[in-house]
Amino acid sequence: MSLLTIEQLTAGYGKLVVLRDVNLTVDEGQFVAILGPNGSGKSTLVKSVFSMTDIVAGSIEMDSRSLIGLPTESISQHGIAYVPQRENIFSSMTIRENLLLAVRHLDSPKAEAALRDAFELFPILEERQEQGAGQLSGGERQMLAIAIGWLARPRLMLLDEPSAGLAPSLVKDVFRLLRRLCEAGITLAVVEQNARSILRWCDYAYVLREGEIAFQGTSEEILADEETVKGYLGVSPAVESLLH
Ligand code: ADP
Ligand code: MG
Repeated sequence: MSLLTIEQLTAGYGKLVVLRDVNLTVDEGQFVAILGPNGSGKSTLVKSVFSMTDIVAGSIEMDSRSLIGLPTESISQHGIAYVPQRENIFSSMTIRENLLLAVRHLDSPKAEAALRDAFELFPILEERQEQGAGQLSGGERQMLAIAIGWLARPRLMLLDEPSAGLAPSLVKDVFRLLRRLCEAGITLAVVEQNARSILRWCDYAYVLREGEIAFQGTSEEILADEETVKGYLGVSPAVESLLH
């Protein structure tokens, strides 16, 4: 069953049209990757779901309810969490303070219980909980950002390049964790540059090129068709990693 349905979306910033006629569906329980070279509109697509772009035409629905025109702050009420690429944690606060902020609507016992659940999924955060978030390594920082999103108990998480700037072994850790979240019932749509890596973990992928969906398919379909991937992804880090 489809959870997020984007149809014929044309969107951008003011007069600049970035996305044209984009169709994308994320089914309940699916782990979907959104790939494509730099500047192809991946972040714009994710931001459109959160009313952070100007929508020219098309529809965006969560559970058959339109999200278009809703204020950004209210989108989370529809069970969607956003983990942006940058500024996704508060560096001046400790890990624990960051996590508590994410559950500030809960009373103290419930907040503590939520943190205990989070520490099961993200054990590294428990060890470091009193540490300043600004001192975390890139990988730990991403784990914290994902944990903050997860604490909202969303049905759908949208993540923008969660592996950006991470060493290959950490990239794998992040994707393994995402797979675990998916197995635990959270539907995922993840923007990625590390195409080759994420195709081993996701179920389905869309490839954007110049604001349009150039190709889509299961990981197997995309990996099996090297020529298509080469042609559609162009010269980008994503392609580099796919082909070597
Ligand atoms: P990607 O995430 O695939 O690298 P983006 O969605 O960030 O691509 O950007 C797509 C296009 O939109 C680029 O040409 C970029 O310059 C432009 N763009 C992105 N953000 C803004 C913005 N806030 N205002 C105007 N143009 C933007
Ligand atoms: Mg981007």
